Amino acid sequence: MHQLNDTIQINATKIQPKKILKEVFGYSEFRSLQKEIIHQVLQKRDTLAIMPTGGGKSLCYQIPALIFDGLTVVISPLISLMKDQVDQLKAYGVSAAYLNSSLPPKDYETALDQIRLNNLDLLYLAPETLLKDRVLKILLHSDVDCIAIDEAHCISEWGHDFRPEYRQLSAVTKRFENAVTLALTATATPRVQKDIAQSLELSDAQTFVASFNRKNLYLDIVSKSNPLQQTIDFINLHKNESGVIYCFSRKQVDELYQDLNANGFNALPYHAGLSETERTKNQEAFIKDEVDIIVATIAFGMGIDKPDVRFVVHYDMPKNIESYYQQIGRAGRDGLQAHCLFLFGYGDANKIRYFIGQKEGKERQIAEDHLQQLIAFAESYQCRRIKLLEYFGEQHRDQNCGMCDVCTGDIPQKSDITISAQKFLSTIVRTDQRFGYHHIIHILRGSRRKQVLALNHNKLSTFGIGKAVSTQEWKQIYRELLKRQVIVRDTEFKSLKLTPKAKEILVGDQKIYGIIDEPTVNERVKASRSEIESLNFNRDLFQLLRDKRSELARSEGVAPFIIFGDSTLIEMAYYYPQSMQSVLTIHGVGRAKAEKYGEAFLNVIVDFCEQHSLEERSRSTAAKKVRVKKALSKNSRPYEIGRLFNKGTSIKAIASQYRIKEGTVISNLLKFVRAGESISPTQLLNHSKLSEQTISDVELAFQKHGYDLLRPVFDALNEQVSYDELRLIQLYNLAKNNCFFLVHNSKKGSQN
Ligand code: ADP
Ligand code: ZN
Repeated sequence: MHQLNDTIQINATKIQPKKILKEVFGYSEFRSLQKEIIHQVLQKRDTLAIMPTGGGKSLCYQIPALIFDGLTVVISPLISLMKDQVDQLKAYGVSAAYLNSSLPPKDYETALDQIRLNNLDLLYLAPETLLKDRVLKILLHSDVDCIAIDEAHCISEWGHDFRPEYRQLSAVTKRFENAVTLALTATATPRVQKDIAQSLELSDAQTFVASFNRKNLYLDIVSKSNPLQQTIDFINLHKNESGVIYCFSRKQVDELYQDLNANGFNALPYHAGLSETERTKNQEAFIKDEVDIIVATIAFGMGIDKPDVRFVVHYDMPKNIESYYQQIGRAGRDGLQAHCLFLFGYGDANKIRYFIGQKEGKERQIAEDHLQQLIAFAESYQCRRIKLLEYFGEQHRDQNCGMCDVCTGDIPQKSDITISAQKFLSTIVRTDQRFGYHHIIHILRGSRRKQVLALNHNKLSTFGIGKAVSTQEWKQIYRELLKRQVIVRDTEFKSLKLTPKAKEILVGDQKIYGIIDEPTVNERVKASRSEIESLNFNRDLFQLLRDKRSELARSEGVAPFIIFGDSTLIEMAYYYPQSMQSVLTIHGVGRAKAEKYGEAFLNVIVDFCEQHSLEERSRSTAAKKVRVKKALSKNSRPYEIGRLFNKGTSIKAIASQYRIKEGTVISNLLKFVRAGESISPTQLLNHSKLSEQTISDVELAFQKHGYDLLRPVFDALNEQVSYDELRLIQLYNLAKNNCFFLVHNSKKGSQN
C-alpha cells in the first residue's frame, strides 16, 4: 500500500503527481478533484469519478499510469477517439497504444507485442476487445495496475448510452487482482451513479463528484425572431473560430449550412441522413480546423473531443435541459471562454410537443415535464447557472456568476407594461375571447382591413388606442402575457382566453413588467466580448503560430490541437519566449512537446520579435499590462448606470430603478470602468459587508493574483468571500487606479 500525501514511493524514488503534471503535460495546477482522485487511485482504492465534460478526467488515470510500474488499461466505447487520445499521449512522450476493430492487423499485432514486452504505460481498448479470449489472456499474464473505465454510464440502462458489453466488464476486471478500478463519467444523475457502482461491484469505492458548473461557458438566451440573421450576426463576431450550430431537423441543417456558406461562412453539415463516409469526412475537417462551423442535429457530438470549440448555437430548441447541457458542454473544453447562444422560441416548443404527442403514457409525461423545465429555465430572469445546476441537484451559491446574460445585465430591460396589457386584455374581452393575437393587434392599431370592418370591430372602444405601439411591440406584449399565463391560446382555434390572473391586471390590482424592446444579438454579443478578445496578446503572431501548428499537424497526420492548444499559442503570442527555457514555462508545454515542437515555434517567435523589435515579457512586468479598452455606446446599460452612479445615485437606488440585483449594478459599473470611463471609488466600500480585516485579506489576494479575474482570488480565500463582494472590491481598485491589469494566470483561473 502506498502511503504519503502528495508523493508516492516507487523504486526508492519519489514521484510527485504534480511534477508529472508540469513536466509531462505542462500544466501548473490541478483542476478540481483531480489531485484527490489521483491520490486515491495511487493507493489502489477503487474510485468512481463524476466530472463534467472538459473537467479533466483523462489525467486522473494518465498520471497514475506514469507512476505505476505496470500497465493501465483504459476501456472506452468511443473507438473514433482512441487514435486522437493515443496520438496526444505520444506527443506528450508517453508510451501508449490502442486496440480496436478499426486497427489494421499488422498494427494490432504490434500493439499486442508491446503489451507482452511490458513496453506500454497505457493501453486503450474497446470493451468488446477486452472480452476477446486472446487479448484477455495476454493481459492476464501482464502486470496490470489500473483499469480505467471511461464513459462508465454506458453500463447503466438508465444512462443515455447503454452498451450491453459494459455489463460484462465486472466479471473480467475482478480477474485482475492487482489492479485498481477507476470508473469515470460525465453523467450526473444519482440513479446512474448507483448503477455504475453496483454493476462494477465497487462497493467500497469512494465517489468523487465535481461541480457541474462550467465556469468558462458564457450562457446566453435570446428570443428567436429572425434566426438566420441572428446567427449570422453572432458568428460574424466569432470569425475564424470553431463552433457548432445545433438544429432540430436534418432539413433545417441542410438549409442552414448552405445559407451560411452563401453568406461567406465556412460550414459543413452533420446528421444521420448523411452517409457514414460523409459524416466522418465532415467531422475530420472540423477537428483539423479545415472548416470553422458544423451545423448539426443531435447526432453530432459523441465521438468528438475538440478542445477549442469557441461557440455553440442552439438554432432550435433542445428537447430538455440535459441535452442542452450536454451540447453546450462541447464548447470550451480547453478552459478558455466560449459563448453558448440559445435562440429561444415558443414555436419550437410546439414542434417538440408535436413529437412528444406521439409518445405514450409515462414516457410522454416525462418528456413533457422535461420540456416544461427547459422552458422555465429559458424564461427565468435568474442567473442561468442557478437553474441549470439546480437541475443536476447542485446548489449554486454565487448570486452573480458574471458569465451569463442575466448576471452581466445583458438581458433586455423590463418595463411596466400594465397599461398596454390592460388594453390588450380588454380587447380580448370585447371580442368575446374568440380571436387570435393578429386580430387583436389589428384592432388595437386601428387597422381598417376587411375582417376588422366586417365584424364592426372598428366600433369598439379599444379600436386604435394602441397606434403608438408598433406591431412588433404588441407581439412582445402578447408573448409576455402568454408566458405569464395571463392568457392561454386555444390549440385548435388559436383564440385567446383570459385566465384568472387577467382579472387582477384588468382591475389594476396587479402590475405586470415585461420586455418590450429586445436588443439585437449583435448588441448583446458585443456586451459580452470574450475573454480571449480582451486579452492583450499579439494577434499577428498568434496567427503565424496557428499556421505553424497546422503545417506540423498536416505533416504528422494529427489534429492541430494535439500539437498545442490555443491557450498555449496565446501565451506564446503574449510572452514572446526567446529561449527553450522560457518556452517550458508556457501553459501546456511539457518536456516532450518542447523537445518535439519547441524549436519550430521558437523560430517563429524569435523571427517575429526581431522584425518587430519586440522583447520577451517577464511574468512580473506582464502583470501590469494595460488591457484593451472598448468604448461603450451612450445608450448601453453600463453607460447609463455609470452616469447615474457618477451623479450620486446609490447602487441600491440604481438596482431598484432598473429592477436588477445590486450585484448586477456592480457588474455594469465594472464594464463602464473597463471601457475607460471613470467613477469615484470613495463611496463604493460603504456597500461592503465585510470586516476591515477581510477587506485587507481580499486586497492582498488581488495584489497577488491580479485584478483581472475573480476565480483565483476566490480560491485563495478558500471560497469564503462571495463573488459579489469580490467584484465590489475589484471595482473599487479598478476605479482607484483606473488602469487594468492583465494577469497571466487568468485563463487557468477560469478553468477550475
Ligand atoms: P474530460 O475527459 O473530463 O472531458 P479531458 O480529460 O479531455 O476532459 O480534459 C479536457 C482538457 O483539459 C484537455 O485539453 C486537457 O489537456 C485539459 N486539462 C486537464 N487537466 C488540466 C489541468 N489540470 N490544467 C490545465 N488543463 C488541463
Ligand atoms: Zn449568471
